[in-house]
Amino acid sequence: MSAMSLKDVRCLKKRAALSAHIEAKIPGFRIVKKDKSFFMKLLSFFLFFNRDFMTRYVTTIYPKVYVPSWWGKETKNKSLEIEILAHEYVHLYDRKRLGMLFNIIYLSPQVFSLLAIGAIWNTWFLLALLFLLPWPSPGRAWLEFRGYRVSLLMKYWILTSLSPDKEKIVWHYINNDALEWTLDQFISSNYYFMFPFRSFLRKRFINELKCVTMDDNNLSDELKRLKEIALR
Ligand SMILES: [Zn+2]
Repeated sequence: MSAMSLKDVRCLKKRAALSAHIEAKIPGFRIVKKDKSFFMKLLSFFLFFNRDFMTRYVTTIYPKVYVPSWWGKETKNKSLEIEILAHEYVHLYDRKRLGMLFNIIYLSPQVFSLLAIGAIWNTWFLLALLFLLPWPSPGRAWLEFRGYRVSLLMKYWILTSLSPDKEKIVWHYINNDALEWTLDQFISSNYYFMFPFRSFLRKRFINELKCVTMDDNNLSDELKRLKEIALR
């Protein structure tokens, strides 16, 4: 068995363990291919401005995770898919504990544009359409911060478990290229310009990344479990 396929097997084990963990924590959890879902096809019709919605993005709507057709097929994506799944799990976990409040926090302030329906009674309600502008969303940014923090930590744990001799290179990569890519997500149209304060976010992420050096007893139960899965 070649070294490459041994890594693949380890990745499959990690992924199976993560799926089992999510299934145990999130009732009704399932991974669904986007092109097999009428709901996603309908959504892509309304999200016509996002041409890559069906082919590039993973979309989580509690308790399901909708994935593009390449999911699970290409070997080179194996460890990336574990990171993505762990990130989506954070959203499912938060949605489970926060209920509908999660949706309001995530979609605010743009969701308040729905108040424009009040224009039926009074045209002043049309001002609510101003909420559609790309205002920063501290709520969405907070929820995505929690998700991307786990993405980066999983990336570190998975890559170092597969190549322990490359720990230094991996740590440098996580704190630079991987982190900068993550910051791009917060300031770009990908999440509707949710948080344009790059250096503030960079500091927060670097602070969170320090937990890779922490003793396991200082990690939250969820992080401890995810770390255990990533290091398998
Ligand atoms: Zn996310």
